[in-house]
Amino acid sequence: NKLVQAGVDLSDFPILQTKTHGKRLVYLDSAATAQKPLPVLDAVRHYYEEENANPHRGNYELSVLATERYEEARALTRAFINAKEDAEIIFTRNTTESLNLIAYSYGMHFIQEGDEIVLSIAEHHSNLIPWQQVAKARGATLKYLYLDKNGRITEEEINEKITEKTRLVAIVHVSNVLGTVNPVKEIVNKAHNVGAVAVVDLAQSIPHFPVDVQDIDADFAVFSGHKMLSPMGIGVLYGKRELLEKMPPFLFGGDMIEYVYEQEATFAPLPAKFEAGTQNVGGAVGLAAAIRYIQKVGYDRIREIDSKLVHYAFSRLRELDYITIYGDGGAGNRCGVISFNIRDAHPHDVASILDADGVAIRAGHHCAQPLLRYLGINATCRASFYFYNTPEDVDTFVESVKKVRGVLGYGSK
Ligand code: PMP
Repeated sequence: NKLVQAGVDLSDFPILQTKTHGKRLVYLDSAATAQKPLPVLDAVRHYYEEENANPHRGNYELSVLATERYEEARALTRAFINAKEDAEIIFTRNTTESLNLIAYSYGMHFIQEGDEIVLSIAEHHSNLIPWQQVAKARGATLKYLYLDKNGRITEEEINEKITEKTRLVAIVHVSNVLGTVNPVKEIVNKAHNVGAVAVVDLAQSIPHFPVDVQDIDADFAVFSGHKMLSPMGIGVLYGKRELLEKMPPFLFGGDMIEYVYEQEATFAPLPAKFEAGTQNVGGAVGLAAAIRYIQKVGYDRIREIDSKLVHYAFSRLRELDYITIYGDGGAGNRCGVISFNIRDAHPHDVASILDADGVAIRAGHHCAQPLLRYLGINATCRASFYFYNTPEDVDTFVESVKKVRGVLGYGSK
């Protein structure tokens, strides 16, 4: 009973065959979290059924097996983002924890009074609030790269804001609100030219296109497994060895030590130094299966499907003159996401009306309040697409959108 569309076996995603409010589920919230294919679910189940034990601790076969699965996942992740060595891959819970690790372990120790930290105004709160905390604690200043009218960060803005005073630049690769792809390579390069370290948030890019951390030359890069098909609760921090070596541990406890005395302790080498306590091996196994799934489908196909869906949805929404679409003037540099508003309709009302038709979209500030304030709005509707969506999903979504003004009593125009 295969349901193959554009080369993707949709029957791999059982949740997409379920109903919501008696209607076929049209899931357009993959920017929040992706749905999980059967090979990922099977891998996690297999791990718990046949291989589960606490890794790195036991001398018995099962524990050795769990350790192997965990370290295999690390090796696969290393290759996936082209890091130099496995020890540069630290498993965390999610992007947020990875960023907090960098902020607390690097920021709180290496940012000094008077230093400047540069972010973009489009950062997700998880790449913004940790830096506010660092700036406050260390007496540093936060500066922002603002966007032009198409949602882009211009070269002039980069050159103006990143200066000799800049010690750290933290930048999102793809905006979770606008879908714009930032020129991270140029930004990292500029950061390095002034002697700053660069942190790149891959949460919204790595689900959609390949990322090579050595090519970008990021000092740190972070992402969450759950936005790229894996279970929740597993995330990745990539860091260059020389930086990770000089950073103190973030969390202290079991597994991250070498020798412990009454008053002192020494810490384990990388990556264990940053992985205190029992780790999420099942999550890492799921992440490995997700990477394999993405590699099987292929990023070329993923990009082609994503891009077709976004272009199609964009052109259909564009026909409706009561809709404002945010970000890039065209569908061009837009990755997986369309943020929009319907005239006179509150985004929460829009999302509820669509929900009744089985269409799941997100409404709100998308954890990017400074960006929305900068755009002069409080909230948007956000439809986000992934390669398991279909043109039929877009049609259902647009038909539902067309009903909104009528339902709210404004007439459909
Ligand atoms: N950064 C970006 C760009 C995101 O879209 C998200 C998730 N919405 C995050 C960071 C935070 O990810 P998580 O909640 O998995 O930590």
